[in-house]
Amino acid sequence: MERTVETTPEFINSGTWNKVLNYIALSDEAPPYLLMDRDLVAKKVSLIGKGIRNSKTYYAVKANPDKEVLKLMNSLETGFEIASEGELQILAALGVGPERIITSNPVKTFKFLEQAVDYGLRYFAFDSAVEVDKLARYAPGSNVYIRLSVPNEGSEWPLSKKFGVETDEAAALLVYAKEKGLNPAGITFHVGSQCNNVYNWNIAVDKAWELWEIVGQQGITLSMLNIGGGYPIRYTKKVADIETIEKKADKAIYQKFPKDIEVFIEPGRAVVGDAGVFVSTVIGKARRGDENWLYIDVGVFNGLMESIGGIKYTYVVGSRSDEKIWTIAGPSCDSFDVIDRGVELPEPEIGNRILILSSGAYTISYASEFNGFSIPKTILI
Ligand SMILES: *Cc1c(COP(=O)(O)O)cnc(C)c1O
Repeated sequence: MERTVETTPEFINSGTWNKVLNYIALSDEAPPYLLMDRDLVAKKVSLIGKGIRNSKTYYAVKANPDKEVLKLMNSLETGFEIASEGELQILAALGVGPERIITSNPVKTFKFLEQAVDYGLRYFAFDSAVEVDKLARYAPGSNVYIRLSVPNEGSEWPLSKKFGVETDEAAALLVYAKEKGLNPAGITFHVGSQCNNVYNWNIAVDKAWELWEIVGQQGITLSMLNIGGGYPIRYTKKVADIETIEKKADKAIYQKFPKDIEVFIEPGRAVVGDAGVFVSTVIGKARRGDENWLYIDVGVFNGLMESIGGIKYTYVVGSRSDEKIWTIAGPSCDSFDVIDRGVELPEPEIGNRILILSSGAYTISYASEFNGFSIPKTILI
């Protein structure tokens, strides 16, 4: 298959491209399926955290909770960030010890809390008084960290409005947690997913330091800063690289915080995103008004949900025909199932493969069987 669009140099160098083409050439697996390059995942795991002193990485499982992916990550001895009993059960089955698992969801279900405590988890996020009460009851004495609200500008998937509190409330809640017999251990934030503004981490670190000092004056000595996730990957546009982000974050942290601080990082997208390639099939074409429609067998509901939130993927087809501007839609009958508009691609034939790059994160984990279309299989290569 010919490469008809400019993909990331990293992608080409990683060998992922060759592995994908080889797999397609040699396998009789029927599309759609998601290929995940083990070597690229391993490379990302080894890279993330390298630029931040005293850091530990906790992979955000929701980005891609495939069993084989988690098995691979377990063998690389990374930590895990989870939010539900379902995620806990997968890790438990793999034998991941509780000391390698944290939960940063500030609002937890009772069932999850009970199972997490039973399993031995000791680190929990919170951002409300009622969550302190829940933790004091279900996880007495555990280490808790406050979710601070920070700017999400420049992130393609902002999320801070759902969670997080401002500095004064955060300080009061840490004090309250201590009164309730919990151990106020640290501060967390999330700059927004697919965050391409490297200054967001600086702003967030400064804000966390302000809080750290305020609670310090009230007799609370924190020990941990959890800088969340948000590292971006390249879909169609060039993004800040991990080294640059970490260098800046590390500098901001060590200018201010105590030298023995523990830093947690919770990347999801950056660990698995680039390593994934959807192999899909062109199932239909039509000209409607002045739009060229291309229908493929992976859509918004069975894998490409994030396209609705503005994520733009890179598509590759093998055709050498003239380029046209396409509206790309999934296989279901729902009008919501439109993946992208204005995509320039050579015209493929019906039955041709179409590859969707950088699709390893927040794809299968979001997928449903809506309208009877099955969720594509994940295959590690
Ligand atoms: C989803 C999530 C992450 C991972 O975010 P990415 O943008 O995929 O890196 C990290 N921490 C928390 C609390 C999350 O909810």
